[in-house]
Amino acid sequence: MEKEHLKLVLVGHVDHGKSTLIGRLFYDTDSLPEEKIAEVKQVCDALGKELEFAYVLDHLEEERSQGITIDTTQLFFHTDKRDYVIIDAPGHREFTKNMITGASQAEAAILLVDADEGVQEQTRRHAYILTLLGLSQVIVAMNKMDLVDYSEEVFNRVSEDVKAFLSKIGITPSYIIPISALKGGNVAKSSDYMDWYTGPTILEALDTFTTSENREANPLRLPVQDVYNVEGKRIIVGRIEGGTLQAGQEIHVLPSGESTVISSVEEYLKEGKSAAVAGESTGITVSDKLFIDRGNVICPNDNKPILTKEIKGNLFWMDREPLKKGDHVTFKCATQNVKCTVSAIERRMDSSTLEVIEDDATELENREVGEVRLSFSDFVIVEDFNMTPELGRFVIEKGYDTAGGGIITHLGEENQ
Ligand code: GDP
Repeated sequence: MEKEHLKLVLVGHVDHGKSTLIGRLFYDTDSLPEEKIAEVKQVCDALGKELEFAYVLDHLEEERSQGITIDTTQLFFHTDKRDYVIIDAPGHREFTKNMITGASQAEAAILLVDADEGVQEQTRRHAYILTLLGLSQVIVAMNKMDLVDYSEEVFNRVSEDVKAFLSKIGITPSYIIPISALKGGNVAKSSDYMDWYTGPTILEALDTFTTSENREANPLRLPVQDVYNVEGKRIIVGRIEGGTLQAGQEIHVLPSGESTVISSVEEYLKEGKSAAVAGESTGITVSDKLFIDRGNVICPNDNKPILTKEIKGNLFWMDREPLKKGDHVTFKCATQNVKCTVSAIERRMDSSTLEVIEDDATELENREVGEVRLSFSDFVIVEDFNMTPELGRFVIEKGYDTAGGGIITHLGEENQ
């Protein structure tokens, strides 16, 4: 049976230990081939250094850039329970962009904080981005405990700072764990130097998290990606973002509001398949000749997402040119791709300090966060982020470039 996957991001201020922790996670879970370790050891020996886990990551990165590994964007490590995919390794140029656009679809995060330096600028910015991603499964890894003599007192003090900051932005960390990524304490094995800490290791904590595969019990959400004509059949394809579907099931199509029945489930090279569940990309045919197109959402008759012409959202702006009130930009949400107007920038904030710069602003500058109102000439289909993340977050494009992204905070008027 295929093992479950959980997608993880590691964030934190530069030099607080992200690469080292990633290298350590791979090493301690035996997720690297022997020869890789040997190569890295050789490099470290040549430099007269102890095995540096940051090099393990660099080494993998280098392979990635040379296209040696099969999958160029994802790194895997595993526990007995499941596989973990680290997406968007830090240092990657597109890191913030991928995080914010949800390209990564991370399900959990580790926020690294150097015990000696405490909360720093990027700690704040990255933590804020986590809230924009709607991530609620967050581990704070208080790293470099070896540099503060494994002191419980330092841990408690910095923990209080971290908690105070995170609570301001609405994050309650699931765990705060004192670790030494370099020495390995409390990552895969309990540390011998911190008897005062009785909580889980990083791996134990990760294993308590749930994956989006648990969205099967939700109502059906199938954003339509495309419609293909194959041997006389019209096959509607997409990734199921919630619930399950099967042949014979009654469905509803948004925004047209028409209903029909699933005739068959069609998957390439999978004859005889008649059902599919959340997380799967699949194809269906339906019994009526309806006009169904990319951007439509298929759902049950009695439980639908919202059709609206206006939403409010928290938008992280990352384009050198400021976003202006009144701008016409492209709004992308699940498979929808439509024009919208920035009808208001109700609040403008510094993404690092979260200080409000201005209410009712006319512009949003690079790396600022805005509470914005977006209006549309046609209906868009949206839903609470916590129910269906894909329908609750959006990306803004200017020209053909990704310029911002965020989550929807008010779905607007139900207007069917
Ligand atoms: P990144 O920028 O967040 O990826 O940080 P790195 O993983 O590159 O680590 C920055 C520096 O901190 C490197 O020199 C690491 O060896 C060091 N470092 C990382 N973790 C630890 C730790 O637990 N203890 C100590 N003493 N040094 C660490």
